[in-house]
Amino acid sequence: MGWAGRIGVAILVLLALGAGGYWYYLADGAVPATGTYKADIAAWRALIADDTAQLPNQIRVEVVGRDTVPNAAVQAGAPFEPYVMARTAFQLDGPAGAVVIDSGMDAEIAGAAQPGDDKTYDEASYARVIAAMGNAQRVVVTHEHPDHIAGVARFPVPERLAERLTLSAPQFEGLRLFAPGGLVPPPLARAEIVDMTAPHRVAPGVVMVPAAGHTPGCVMFYAKLADGREVLFLGDVAWAISNVRDPALRPRLVQDFFMKPREDRAKVADQIRALHELAAAEPDLVMIPSHDDSYLKALMASGLVAQGFAVDAP
Ligand SMILES: [Zn+2]
Repeated sequence: MGWAGRIGVAILVLLALGAGGYWYYLADGAVPATGTYKADIAAWRALIADDTAQLPNQIRVEVVGRDTVPNAAVQAGAPFEPYVMARTAFQLDGPAGAVVIDSGMDAEIAGAAQPGDDKTYDEASYARVIAAMGNAQRVVVTHEHPDHIAGVARFPVPERLAERLTLSAPQFEGLRLFAPGGLVPPPLARAEIVDMTAPHRVAPGVVMVPAAGHTPGCVMFYAKLADGREVLFLGDVAWAISNVRDPALRPRLVQDFFMKPREDRAKVADQIRALHELAAAEPDLVMIPSHDDSYLKALMASGLVAQGFAVDAP
């Protein structure tokens, strides 16, 4: 069922349930006061403690597309005003080479994955992501949804990508859905597949952090830059920075009807609680969700994130 069909089903369900249903499916974004998820920044820092001379010095972003959803679909209880989703990939440049986080998606996948009528897609941006992936020291993804992983599944020279690629096991499983003809190119099986039961250093200054919930293979990336700044790439644990700041979850309507597989609400709630408290404890840590276009523009204006990948990475 397409996006429009699912909206139709969701509206019928809401009409049937009335006010109670509205609260349950759209307005309730409550995050429990305590949770079991540990956002253990001390452990992440310890993993990269010896990387001082090789830390990345620049964060770059490519926005391969933009589309609009109701803010009420991003954060429970938010108004039905347009919210712009940026479809991003990030690049960390440094003396050890570049790390690319997320792969974007080609025009064909984007045509099915981007919702709404006012969507845009940037072929040249996606071409830069693919070129940068081929030159990176390491390529990683936040999770196995098409806007993040399809560029891995459809990479034009899989042999070249495999030696740079680190995935969790569920992420590798997720490639199949977007691979040409449903067959994962055999060379990609030579990628580094990591057991995501604990944080894992993937490159100098960069740590993959387990965060299953939004999808089974969902992770975040902690990075420390040469100038001392610290960043946490949230992937889709939160779509908007306001999910963490307020804090508030995505509505059940989206979790139950729009996500395949269905999002694990309890796990994401624990993560949002932990991130909310981490933000309070570490006010200088910059958290970057994958899709928050207006926040991303503010980060670009502040100079923390540069627009456009450097394709001729070392
Ligand atoms: Zn996404």
